[in-house]
Amino acid sequence: MKNPLPIAVRTALLLIVFCGLALAQSPVAPAPVPVRVLIVVAHPDDEFCFAATVYEITHNLGGTVDQLVITNGEGGYRYSLLAESYYGVSLTDEAIGRAALPEIRKRELLDAGHVLGIANHFFLDERDLRYTQDIDEVLREHWHKGVVLPEIERRIAAGNYDFVFTLFPTPETHGGHKAATLTALNAVQQFAGRKPIVLGCQATRSAAEAQPSWKGFQSPQHPFSVLPQVFTTDRTVKFGFRNALDYQIIVNWVITAHKSQGAYQLDVNRADREQFVILQNGSTDESTRTEALFRALAEQAAHPKSLAALGSGVRH
Ligand SMILES: [Zn+2]
Repeated sequence: MKNPLPIAVRTALLLIVFCGLALAQSPVAPAPVPVRVLIVVAHPDDEFCFAATVYEITHNLGGTVDQLVITNGEGGYRYSLLAESYYGVSLTDEAIGRAALPEIRKRELLDAGHVLGIANHFFLDERDLRYTQDIDEVLREHWHKGVVLPEIERRIAAGNYDFVFTLFPTPETHGGHKAATLTALNAVQQFAGRKPIVLGCQATRSAAEAQPSWKGFQSPQHPFSVLPQVFTTDRTVKFGFRNALDYQIIVNWVITAHKSQGAYQLDVNRADREQFVILQNGSTDESTRTEALFRALAEQAAHPKSLAALGSGVRH
């Protein structure tokens, strides 16, 4: 049967349909690939919160992740009973534990970093004196004054990072976590160049009754604002042979790398999501850039690359 439409009309219609499809599939913002991330945390093992996200960035997106750890982790000796025979050191003796743990925990962190594909580790070796929820006690009495903020500022200026990953400063979290996160945020806010986006993380369970609170602790001396959007990495996305694998395996490898931290081992399989909010840094494009990262992560989550596909993209 003869086509009733002239060739010019048909061509124009095809072009309109094609362009419409292309527009519908084009992303709102370009995916930030390869992305550059700096983790800023108080203790060796805090990286557990965003372990799956970091693994996906280094392995699925070809990104680069560095880590800056502020303290030497010496305060973790109280939970080291089961690791005493493993390391051959009486770690729960406070004097012995505080002397030996900084080196042990550094090795544990490097093992966990190997799992995650961390490119560079930076250690500030500040003291990890004791548990407190008081951010000012940490900043005044535990850490050297005038050291941590400039060190983070130097790292941010040198690294050209797109994102800074931190722990979300809930009211009940360790004062060291609060201090690490808000010092990192201050460093970013003061940075005059292209500011990385600061994300605060909580590891959560998907059960409806376990929704996290994003109400940060209140302190007039340490004000910060949070954008409302929540970004999620699902640790239970299935992939691999017979869909038998998921990212909980990676998270659990990270947990078991930190053998000196006994109670922490009970976190195996406890949380199934990593959730993030933006701690505002004063830029105008924080939501757009973060949406682009998590869209790229979600698109690749079920397709982690094999070693052959990674080539030299992951440094170990
Ligand atoms: Zn910690």
